[in-house]
Amino acid sequence: MELHVLGAAGGEMSGFKPSSFLLDQHLLLDAGSVCSALSLDELSTIDHILISHSHLDHVKDLGLLSDLLTGRRDRPVYVYSTATVLDALQTHYFNNSIWPDFTKIPNQESPVMKLVEIQPQQPFQLGDYTITAIPVNHTVETHGFLVTKDGRSLLYSADTGPTDLLWAYANQAPNLQGIILDVAFPNRMQFLADLAKHLSPQGAQEELKKLTNPRTPIFFFHLKPGFYDELKQEIGATLLAQHPERRILRSGDRISL
Ligand SMILES: [Zn+2]
Ligand SMILES: [Zn+2]
Repeated sequence: MELHVLGAAGGEMSGFKPSSFLLDQHLLLDAGSVCSALSLDELSTIDHILISHSHLDHVKDLGLLSDLLTGRRDRPVYVYSTATVLDALQTHYFNNSIWPDFTKIPNQESPVMKLVEIQPQQPFQLGDYTITAIPVNHTVETHGFLVTKDGRSLLYSADTGPTDLLWAYANQAPNLQGIILDVAFPNRMQFLADLAKHLSPQGAQEELKKLTNPRTPIFFFHLKPGFYDELKQEIGATLLAQHPERRILRSGDRISL
């Protein structure tokens, strides 16, 4: 699998884009920043989008992408998530008020975007990929994803505070090549990490004790841009120390898994 990081930040400002990860040019994990990261030809090859939860920094570009692709593809882009998330998208985003309902444009039979409901913890197949949505611990219903292709796996935590099920999956995943893990707030803002249900570096340190293979590559994401330098320093001093296989993701990174 080829992982192309389109955005890895927990917000947006110059040099930082919200979460979006492209796998092998066709499969997207979250849609926080897609359009500004890819050319029109590259955007046109995205067939499947997995959405972890309804927060804006993970769904923002669904609307702009749908708009760009209208009239350019002869098949829909499929957007997969649980019923709660799809309902939120339909009610609060594609409601013909905030944005047109692209699930009915140009027509209901052949729309530019199709929403597909998935069930937590029930593996499903998308071409060569086997995908499992894993419930995690966030302020709204959120699922991480285990993606397996050709016997190799990638685990995406999505936004989460302390959780157990994700690690149970990590410890059983076939040939796990990496975990994309939330670290959002510096240690001195642990109260905010708790409130918003994200991890701090010390929280991530505790979580990683649940992982049986300590050499599993960990890719940290969702650092809040406003605290980036502080977070980078804290992560470097603790989580990355003695662990060359770990790194902080930035938009534009490409990683072979
Ligand atoms: Zn969130
Ligand atoms: Zn987020």
